[in-house]
Amino acid sequence: MNENLNPDNTNFSSDELDVEKKLRPLSFDDFTGQEQAIENLKIFVEAANIRGEALDHTLFHGPPGLGKTTLAHILANELNAGIKVTSGPVLDKPGDLAGLLTGLDERDVLFIDEIHRLSPIVEEYLYSAMEDFKIDIMIESGPNARTVQINLEPFTLIGATTRSGLLTAPMRARFGISSRLQYYDTELLSTIVQRSAQILKTPISMEAAIEIAGRSRGTPRIANALLRRVRDFAQIKGDGTITVEIAKYGLKALNVDAFGLDEMDNKILTTIIQKFKGGPVGISTLATAVSENAETIEEVYEPFLIQQGFIIRTPRGREVTDLAYKHLEISKPRSQGE
Ligand code: ADP
Repeated sequence: MNENLNPDNTNFSSDELDVEKKLRPLSFDDFTGQEQAIENLKIFVEAANIRGEALDHTLFHGPPGLGKTTLAHILANELNAGIKVTSGPVLDKPGDLAGLLTGLDERDVLFIDEIHRLSPIVEEYLYSAMEDFKIDIMIESGPNARTVQINLEPFTLIGATTRSGLLTAPMRARFGISSRLQYYDTELLSTIVQRSAQILKTPISMEAAIEIAGRSRGTPRIANALLRRVRDFAQIKGDGTITVEIAKYGLKALNVDAFGLDEMDNKILTTIIQKFKGGPVGISTLATAVSENAETIEEVYEPFLIQQGFIIRTPRGREVTDLAYKHLEISKPRSQGE
C-alpha cells in the first residue's frame, strides 16, 4: 500500500513517534468528532467520578487510525487514573496478564489493543478479572503446586479492535460500554489538520487543510501523516507556509489521488470490473486476484471503499457501483433490459 495512506503505518522513527505523541489529544475537549460516542462517554466518566468507582469495561471498535488508542488515554486522564497499555498478540500466557493486573491501582485503566487476537486461554483468564476482580495464580511447582485466589483493585479494561466480528460472545458480553468509531468527514478532518499544524508551528491556509483532509480516507492518522509530508514540501519548495498549491503539489508527488484512493484501492475496483464483470465476487477470490491478504482487504480497504460508495456488499459478494466506473473512467456495460 502507499505508505502515506496506510492507516496501520505506525513504523515511525523515534522523532516521528514524538511528533505523533505531541499531536495526540489529551482531553475530551481536545478531541474532534465522534460526537455521539463522546457525549455518552462524558456522562459515564462523570458518573464514575462522582461515585468514586471504576468506569465500566469499555470496547472501542472501528477501522485503524480513528482514535481508539487516543480515547483510551483520554478516558484514563478524565478519570484521573493511571493506564497500562498492551495488545492481544503480546499477551501469550496468563502469567503475562497476571503481572499487569496485579500492578493496577484502584480505578486504573488496562488498555488492550487488538483484543480480538487474545489467545483463548488468556481470554478465559481475563473473564474472572473483569467480572469479579479476582484471579487465580499458580504458586510453587511440582507436587506442591497450588492455586491461590488474589483480589484485584477495581479497574477498567478498555479493549480496541478493528474486527469486532471476531470477538467471542462471552468477551463481548463483559463490556458494559461499547462504542463504534466512524470515519471522519472532510470538515472534521480539516479541523484536526489545522490543530496539528498549529502544534507543529506550521502556518496553513484553510483551503490547504481542506485539500489534505479530503484525501485522508476519513482517518486522522492519515491526515496527520500527510500533513507532516506536505510540511516538508512547504519547507523545501516554498517558504514554510502550506498553501493550497503546495498541498496539491505535495499530494501529487506522494501519489495520493483526489479521493484518497491509493494503488490497491484502484486495483481492487479495476479487478472487480475487469475480471469479475463488476461483481459480485467473494472476498477470498478477490484477495487472490489482487495478491493481497483477505483480512487486510476486509479491514483496511473495503470499509473505506464502501463508505465512499465505490463498493457495495451483497449476500453473494462485493459489487462495484456506478461511481467506481465513473472514477476509473471505464464505461459500464449495459445489462439486459436496460
Ligand atoms: P487507533 O487506535 O484507532 O488506531 P489512534 O488513537 O492511534 O487510532 O489515532 C491515530 C492518531 O490520530 C493519533 O495519534 C491522534 O493524533 C490522531 N487522532 C485520532 N483521533 C483524533 C481526533 N478525534 N482528533 C484529533 N486527532 C486524532
